[in-house]
Amino acid sequence: MRIELDRNRCTGNGLCEFEADRYFEVQDNGTLDVLQCEVDRGDEQQVRNAVAACPTEALSLTE
Ligand code: SF4
Repeated sequence: MRIELDRNRCTGNGLCEFEADRYFEVQDNGTLDVLQCEVDRGDEQQVRNAVAACPTEALSLTE
């Protein structure tokens, strides 16, 4: 499973980082870094929660 980020939709509010801080990190300038695109086995639910938490639908998952 792989994380896709639409930077045009991301507002940098950090809700994804709150859910899964091994995968998402908002930088000092307000942009979001995806620290790891490939989701490790066992982290799927945590990352799904992070994607669901995004209010702007900037995150999606591909298989
Ligand atoms: S929750 Fe969505 S809008 Fe907020 S930082 Fe993450 S990707 Fe960006």
